[in-house]
Amino acid sequence: MAKHPIRKFQRLTTGDDAFRAKFRSWDMTELSYVDIREYLKDKDTVLVPMASTEQHGPHLPLYTDTITAIEVAQRVSEAIGVFHTPPIWTGYSPQHMHLPGEGRGTITIKASTLNALMYDVARSLIHHGFNRIIFINGHGSNTKVVDPVLRKLRYETGALIGFVRPYMERYVGVLEGLMENPPEETPGWHSSELETSQDMAYDPDLVRMERAYPEMAHIPSFLPKSFQKKMMECQMWNSKVTNTSPSQWIIMNLWNQELLEIQ
Ligand SMILES: [Zn+2]
Repeated sequence: MAKHPIRKFQRLTTGDDAFRAKFRSWDMTELSYVDIREYLKDKDTVLVPMASTEQHGPHLPLYTDTITAIEVAQRVSEAIGVFHTPPIWTGYSPQHMHLPGEGRGTITIKASTLNALMYDVARSLIHHGFNRIIFINGHGSNTKVVDPVLRKLRYETGALIGFVRPYMERYVGVLEGLMENPPEETPGWHSSELETSQDMAYDPDLVRMERAYPEMAHIPSFLPKSFQKKMMECQMWNSKVTNTSPSQWIIMNLWNQELLEIQ
């Protein structure tokens, strides 16, 4: 992981300085079981960031979706004083494999593997006393395959199981009106304005804007025009987004705000 600038995240809770002072990190893997026990005396929430490792065009890193999940988890942890785990760094991305030998770098796992992985992670956490497991998901396609494991965990254990859906073109949520590029450039799709902004906010050195170029997804000629996807495929349409773009931090902050509302 590249080094990213150290930032101070916003705190939303007050009166909990003594509790916060007990922990040197909100990443539970940086602590010992003494800290875990201490935490569980007061709280039982844990965030589990999860996303993918998949190609994001020539200008963004494979880790783009996971960066989003990590960043949101870290911010929420600091905002309300809760633990998070390290990220589940791979997910369900068969559509990003492309042809054999093309070297895209995507590492995908089967839906059943992802379900099993999430299940085992959550059951371990529940075993120790965590009772509210919030998966902070940063990859759209994971949402299509996780319903069985979320229900299974809930029905088997009674724990509160949360799953955060990332905002995108068709699920704009709090991002409404924030993206600056025109709708025909589909700024909320894969590798476009939204994801490029988020990567830049995380670490500008990870983004290679000089490699970005416009490309629309296209359909085989034998299919009718109505099958045309109204989306970008893997490339940034224009370079209006910069690391000083006002939208980039707002997008991340709004994400967090909405997550907090469900806590
Ligand atoms: Zn992505």
